[in-house]
Amino acid sequence: MKDYHVHYYLDSCARDEMTFPNIEKRCLELGIDEITVLKHYSHSLPNGERDWVFWHTIKNEEWVKFLNEYAAYKPEKLIIRSGVETELCNEKGDINIPPEEQKKIDMCALSVHYMINLDCCEMDFLLYPNLNFCPGHNNEEGMRLREEWKHKVESVGPEKMITGLVNGYINAIKRNPKVKTLAHMYDGLLPLRTYFCDVDSLGESKCVELLEPLMKIAAEYGVLWELFGDGVVNEKILLRANEMGVRFCATADGHMLKDGWGPLDNLKRAEDFIDRLGLNRGTVDFSR
Ligand SMILES: [Zn+2]
Ligand SMILES: [Zn+2]
Repeated sequence: MKDYHVHYYLDSCARDEMTFPNIEKRCLELGIDEITVLKHYSHSLPNGERDWVFWHTIKNEEWVKFLNEYAAYKPEKLIIRSGVETELCNEKGDINIPPEEQKKIDMCALSVHYMINLDCCEMDFLLYPNLNFCPGHNNEEGMRLREEWKHKVESVGPEKMITGLVNGYINAIKRNPKVKTLAHMYDGLLPLRTYFCDVDSLGESKCVELLEPLMKIAAEYGVLWELFGDGVVNEKILLRANEMGVRFCATADGHMLKDGWGPLDNLKRAEDFIDRLGLNRGTVDFSR
């Protein structure tokens, strides 16, 4: 088994136990033979500040430490690659790590952690949709801003929003050869649902159709569609992606070794999910 999305102790979301030797030992116990250890990398955040909701801009000393510790560790058996988990920023396909920093690692796992800037819908909603995560704005003002955002999204409509997101992914894949996986993709529509875009009102088949251009590019560039064990609303999207030649990879999105909310053990769940749907697995081609 392979897991291209393992977190490292230098990020505050991961436990202190997530060091190279501990990760290797646990992966071998679980029957995993290849992994990518990821550092979260956000060059900038929507509010223009160092920290926003759950996210933090990269600190250079942590980045250097990560690269040095990776270079210094000699695994016994496990194949370990280096990477970042970073964000898609906009429809042009900018990603949240500069090109010169991408050269220092083996791959980027590309995530949409929060709404990207779309040509049809500028991301100017600087609260997380679940206001519980924005303690300072869990109030009337926060609700008002959220309602404003909802109206904006409604007036743009789900079809344009899906197309914008698809364009963003496609442009990012074409422009950034280090993008090897689309991280925690589920059915590709979760970020839009989270931001109150009623994608499911379009019907399953229309959603599939709108995502097909992304499937085509992911297949052509060998970029893997990463799945976690649950959370997929529209399974038809995955089945169509599979038909179009997309390859899938499972992840635990591991932040801890054994127990807690995100243990490495969860890989098995994701693998089972891929088997249940009969999807084709892929491996990352690190030579291109
Ligand atoms: Zn993530
Ligand atoms: Zn992650």
